[in-house]
Amino acid sequence: MPQLRKNLILSEDLKNWKQLDVTAAGSRLWDVVVVGAGPAGSMAALHLAKRGHETLLLDKDSFPRDKVCGDGLIADSVRCLTRAGLYEEIRSRSLKSDLGTVYSPSRICFDIPGEFLTLKRVHLDALIVRSAVASGASFCQAKVTGVEAQPDSTVTVSLDDGVALLRSRIVFLATGANVQMPSKLGLVTEQGPSGVALRCYVRSPVPLDRLVVSYDRSIAPGYAWIFPLGNGEFNIGCGVSYRKRSGSPVNLREAFRSFLTSFPLAAEILRHAEAISPIRGAMLRCGLSGTRPHGPGNVLVLGESIGATFPFTGEGIGKAMETGEIAAEVAHDALSSGDLSRLGEFPHRIEHELKPKFLGYRIAENWFSRPWLNDFVARRIRSSRFLQELVAGIVNETVDPREVFSLRGMLRSFLS
Ligand SMILES: Cc1cc2nc3c(=O)[nH]c(=O)nc-3n(C[C@H](O)[C@H](O)[C@H](O)COP(=O)(O)OP(=O)(O)OC[C@H]3O[C@@H](n4cnc5c(N)ncnc54)[C@H](O)[C@@H]3O)c2cc1C
Repeated sequence: MPQLRKNLILSEDLKNWKQLDVTAAGSRLWDVVVVGAGPAGSMAALHLAKRGHETLLLDKDSFPRDKVCGDGLIADSVRCLTRAGLYEEIRSRSLKSDLGTVYSPSRICFDIPGEFLTLKRVHLDALIVRSAVASGASFCQAKVTGVEAQPDSTVTVSLDDGVALLRSRIVFLATGANVQMPSKLGLVTEQGPSGVALRCYVRSPVPLDRLVVSYDRSIAPGYAWIFPLGNGEFNIGCGVSYRKRSGSPVNLREAFRSFLTSFPLAAEILRHAEAISPIRGAMLRCGLSGTRPHGPGNVLVLGESIGATFPFTGEGIGKAMETGEIAAEVAHDALSSGDLSRLGEFPHRIEHELKPKFLGYRIAENWFSRPWLNDFVARRIRSSRFLQELVAGIVNETVDPREVFSLRGMLRSFLS
């Protein structure tokens, strides 16, 4: 077999991220090869390596690498990072806010208390990869072009250099909104993305002590955000769901410009701002649908590739990491029992553990896509302590969103 000549970051060499040449990766049989080192893939690699499995994490980009995102971490991310032993380090590098404020199309606002962290993805993702490597995983920069189940039940992974071929017992595909690889395996049932979002970084002296999300009319039927990052930097962006788009397509850049001038806080920040990045966009795959999570042979698909990003809010880092945790648990069980058919548990666990949470966000997306209903709900939440607590509970995942976004929820808010 041709030898793999790629750059590896070895666990001994974490401090300097020194890139070492490796010749062994192509000639051994890995327990798990993880394709894609975003939050889903790197969290999976971390948990696999901690359990002692021979894990190779691949990404087409060298790390640290940028990723277009709002950089916001909510409760599910905080819990995942805590379980992975990463919370303290990430907390110390993030900006922590205790409040999120949501604006309706008519700018009726309500607050959501909670723990919200912001950290640029260029840092967050590198920290998780670094921790996976520290736990014993190997990281290699390599673009994967094909994955094929073999008759001996191993899986081969081919790389774009055309010569290298890797072999593994199990392969995880965690390539984000890019679903080329699962598509080649016939696992993609909806080719198109569910939405698109864009963001830019600006520096401005305007103080802001909270995360701001707005369902402003200028973006409708989408949403916009202003997230402070600390050091006077802000992540400002907006997104739109294709599912809720009706009539003529939204020109998102135009809508974003309109938001920046018409939303008072955005205009204030921009008035004194210096742009520190261009506007960049990326696709979203939401709603835990569009791709089957278990492929032919021993292939699992995780993270945004299976739509693990919430509709309505576009948050997906926490759920991507959760799919990584679950996949690692399932693979550990399969490898340690010697029964790889147990990988078939993965879709069931996704269905039972994650799907119900997505249903509530889908209902919320439907409600909030109608500006008058969005205004009505915002007004009710603003004036009802009962609803405020429920909304905080939704973000914290202690309350089912259907408790709020239902006729019953609204009626109860009048009584409490
Ligand atoms: C503008 C925007 C704002 C967002 N804001 C937020 C937010 O504030 N909070 C939040 O929680 N979520 C947010 N999201 C969603 C979040 O970015 C995703 O849910 C999350 O990145 C999904 O993680 P992942 O690991 O599945 O995929 P990704 O993070 O996309 O990682 C996939 C990795 O796979 C690699 N890859 C792809 N193809 C190959 C290949 N062939 N070979 C090797 N490697 C490959 C890529 O280089 C990448 O590193 C936002 C998304 C967008 C677009």
